[in-house]
Amino acid sequence: MEELIETVAEFIVNSRRIVVFTGAGASTESGIADFRSPGGIWAKYDPEDFYFQKFLTQEESREKYWLMSTDLYQSLKKASPNPVHLAIVDLEKLQKLDSVITQNIDGLHHKAGNSREKVIELHGTALSVSCLSCGRKYDRDEVQDRIRNGVKVPRCDECEGLLKPDTISFGQAIPERETTLAYERSSTSDLFIVVGSSLVVQPAASLPVRAKQNGATLVIINRDPTPCDGYADVVINGAAGEIMARIVGKLREKIRN
Ligand code: NAD
Repeated sequence: MEELIETVAEFIVNSRRIVVFTGAGASTESGIADFRSPGGIWAKYDPEDFYFQKFLTQEESREKYWLMSTDLYQSLKKASPNPVHLAIVDLEKLQKLDSVITQNIDGLHHKAGNSREKVIELHGTALSVSCLSCGRKYDRDEVQDRIRNGVKVPRCDECEGLLKPDTISFGQAIPERETTLAYERSSTSDLFIVVGSSLVVQPAASLPVRAKQNGATLVIINRDPTPCDGYADVVINGAAGEIMARIVGKLREKIRN
């Protein structure tokens, strides 16, 4: 592994537009379960229940959604950034970060200290809630208080519309601004580093391929194999926190010398 870490640090030294792409695996070391690993969210809940169309049309699905979402929010709210997030902040401090494109909804890249303008949240954020009818925004904790007090499906104070966290469900459109930005930053990157993603959710999973097709070097750091491994210049399988910390350590050595 040491050799691969050395190679990635060398890639970073020689690159100018580095994009880091993170998935749920970047946050498991902060105590937030991913979706697809054993013991992950989908081991406990059925993804079929969480299609956006069902949320819009079935009260029973909305109740299940809020149960799952409350469960995820409880671990997410008390989570702190882990060495993956901190290593990405170091890349920014070393002026080696073009952007972080994240599938995560946990806000941990912001919490760790990356600048707001560097972070592209493709799947939204769980930290706020909006009314699907009038767009009024609510603080997540305020809505969670209602759930704690027995409300099963919270509704808007203004218009009685359905409230939903500002995250993207299956079947719900990905925000246009973030998608455009993500494709743009991926296309122009010269080094694209995937950290902790199964790379099976589209369109996010097409970003590494887009980057590679436009000439970027592709690195994948993930515990398990991904469908894009064959495209990658380097694949490192293992715990992302330790790997990212070692890469940044090696990078610092190289910059010093
Ligand atoms: P995923 O669950 O499909 O895959 C996670 C991947 O991370 C797996 O391949 C696993 O091998 C790897 N992994 C887990 N822990 C790791 C570790 N410590 N080090 C290295 N690799 C590790 O997640 P995904 O690809 O992000 O896509 C699923 C969806 O999950 C996304 O849409 C995202 O919005 C959502 N999600 C987000 C959070 C969060 O915000 N933290 C949590 C759960 C799910």
